[in-house]
Amino acid sequence: MSLGRSGPQPRDDRRAATDTEPAPCRRRSFGHGDIGLETVGVVAGPRGITVDARMSAGPGLWAIGDVTGLWLLTHVGEYQGRIVAANILGRPREAHYEAVPRVVFCDPQAASVGDADGPFTAGVALAGIPRTSTYTRAYDTRPGFLTLVSDGDRLTGAYALGPEAGEWLQQVTLAIRARIPLSVLLDVIQPFPTFSEAVFQALRDLDAQVARASSGWRQDAVPTRAPSATTA
Ligand SMILES: Cc1cc2nc3c(=O)[nH]c(=O)nc-3n(C[C@H](O)[C@H](O)[C@H](O)COP(=O)(O)OP(=O)(O)OC[C@H]3O[C@@H](n4cnc5c(N)ncnc54)[C@H](O)[C@@H]3O)c2cc1C
Repeated sequence: MSLGRSGPQPRDDRRAATDTEPAPCRRRSFGHGDIGLETVGVVAGPRGITVDARMSAGPGLWAIGDVTGLWLLTHVGEYQGRIVAANILGRPREAHYEAVPRVVFCDPQAASVGDADGPFTAGVALAGIPRTSTYTRAYDTRPGFLTLVSDGDRLTGAYALGPEAGEWLQQVTLAIRARIPLSVLLDVIQPFPTFSEAVFQALRDLDAQVARASSGWRQDAVPTRAPSATTA
């Protein structure tokens, strides 16, 4: 979602206080009666038109985009359009939303995908990766970070703040959607010096946490008392 106030300035010189001030905006849904939904037997809920995983709103009826009230993002609407096209062409497809990327185009960009929390989380400050001591030195001092979220086997979410975070976080979107095991992600080579190296650093931290947790689990599983005669 665009929040910056770049672009044409008002002619009467009434300028915004800063170039990065969030621009307030409101969204109003269309009146459901406007397009005659009732004539085809569709009853829209308060959030929009109810669809199934195939984006079907009823026999021969399809709905995509904001009107479904699912994810109000352009790229989700486009994705849903591809789902509908496949279904109409006889190639059954269902929509999946566990890896929806969200980007706020402020400076620096804020990006997230998947879950915001889970059993394991690992955070890395961008100031600690080589990119900030080579090319993008400003990020030695400016705020920037990446947090990865995991269930212990794979990534389930991530969020980041940093230059073009929406671009370099996208590999996490693929990892979540493809359910790639942590062990495989740890075996991925990240180019030096890029912000993508933060992904590797956070993965290494996650891996250590998961290893500690699983060894703790095994210790707990060892019986602390001698088995009783009935169970021996
Ligand atoms: C300020 C703002 C910034 C945003 N920034 C981003 C961003 O950076 N990235 C992102 O992914 N998403 C962003 N979004 C969300 C994105 O714009 C929407 O998710 C996307 O446009 C949804 O597409 P759509 O085709 O479903 O609906 P729309 O783009 O709203 O299209 C619906 C169309 O139907 C028309 N219509 C409505 N009622 C009728 C009627 N009765 N008869 C005929 N026509 C009708 C409307 O005029 C409109 O043209 C932003 C939204 C806002 C408001």
